[in-house]
Amino acid sequence: MDAKVFHSISYGLYLLGVKGPGGPTGCVVNTVFQISAEPAVFAISVNKDNFTNEWIRRRGLFAATVLSQEVDPGLIGTFGYKSGRDVDKNEGGQLVDSPNALPILKEGGVAYLEFAVMGESDLGSHTVFYARLFGGGLLADETPLSYGYYQTVLKGKSPKSAPTYIADAAAEKPQAGSKKGFVCTICGYVYDGDIPFEELPEDWTCPLCGVSKEMFEEREI
Ligand code: FE
Repeated sequence: MDAKVFHSISYGLYLLGVKGPGGPTGCVVNTVFQISAEPAVFAISVNKDNFTNEWIRRRGLFAATVLSQEVDPGLIGTFGYKSGRDVDKNEGGQLVDSPNALPILKEGGVAYLEFAVMGESDLGSHTVFYARLFGGGLLADETPLSYGYYQTVLKGKSPKSAPTYIADAAAEKPQAGSKKGFVCTICGYVYDGDIPFEELPEDWTCPLCGVSKEMFEEREI
């Protein structure tokens, strides 16, 4: 099957926030869908390896911030490509409390939603949580960040924890006549700046996930 089929599905990007053992933590997901009106129930898919998954299950309460097109891509790097088991994702204080004391983004969000878990399904790599919406509000008059905008304009790719990851990997097979470029081996970001990649300063970091230059490799793009 043509892997582009997977790319024809539209998604948004969301930051899930939950209270972890050492303070607020969270992750970026592309799967937050309203699936019922009365009551307002959402389905949210989270990789089972994610620290956030474990703490959503333990707490039963979490929040989703709808990301804005204006969000700092580095924030997607921190919350989308690193694990809360390894780093304090809120080191920079990007998360603040919602009115019901759930972690939401201080900057870079369009709206927030507060959820109580009603049930879950084990779907293999991911858990789908069914969650009732019990609060929410608008944060900024900006355009919500779609997955399409993230991939085409911000040049982001799916992290390994995303349900769409396999589709992306299949789509990245080199094709005859394609050109070469420097690609982040962690997040898939393709460098397209004016300065030749080799001449970038040694302290240059991936604008999406924050890793250093040596994590890039030259590939067919
Ligand atoms: Fe990267």
